Amino acid sequence: MTIIQPTLHLKEVYELLIETYGEPHNQPDMDPLGGLIGTILSQHTSDINSGRAYQKLIKTFPDWERVRDAPTGEIAEAIRSGGLANIKARRIQEVLHEMSAQQEKDQHPGPLTRYLLEKLQTLQPEQAWQYLRTYPGVGPKTAACVLMFNLDQPVIPVDTHVHRTSKRLGLIGEKVSADQAHVIFAKIVPPEWVYPLHVNLIHHGRQICHAQRPDCGRCPLYGECVYVGSVNPQGVNSSVMRN
Ligand code: SF4
Repeated sequence: MTIIQPTLHLKEVYELLIETYGEPHNQPDMDPLGGLIGTILSQHTSDINSGRAYQKLIKTFPDWERVRDAPTGEIAEAIRSGGLANIKARRIQEVLHEMSAQQEKDQHPGPLTRYLLEKLQTLQPEQAWQYLRTYPGVGPKTAACVLMFNLDQPVIPVDTHVHRTSKRLGLIGEKVSADQAHVIFAKIVPPEWVYPLHVNLIHHGRQICHAQRPDCGRCPLYGECVYVGSVNPQGVNSSVMRN
């Protein structure tokens, strides 16, 4: 495995985030297929609603093969509480059908859930990320969520908070898109920092570095920020910030 030496700036940012928000620890459940379906369900809804939809789905159908083969209307009915039920039901079944075709091609015996786990375990993190993205409707963030949360792989999901705060903090360039950021982070962040950095940048984006009016006056990362002064912050005298 390549050893990544973080820059001094990234190290400072990482340590300040840990000091401020603590050091979170991942608890991967080694269930990437459950994670993938859960992530599809979580699109455009709250965690509570998508969690309910997921629980109802796995209570109604004892395995993913039955979810794949059931009438789409029955899947939509089970996941109704997660919103966009008809679209998500179709998408889930498309993914499961496509995965079954892949499984057959790979001549892998056994349940789909084990197929995906074993397939991803044979791949390097970046390959695994590319592989998941070959499934219909699975974008860079969804693929990264599955790898990081469910398998503890060093692939950072770049959501709106991670994207905004990492640009402001100068971890990535101003013009770098969220999709490009996934690739850059894989090159600059030591693997063991990926999960804590992701979680803490989200805390930072939600609590202090808001999209519209970042609270720069109480920001513990003020000294590391390259963006301060170019936004419309709360609680800081702008003439002070420019100095
Ligand atoms: S100083 Fe302001 S813009 Fe910079 S990271 Fe902190 S809150 Fe965000």
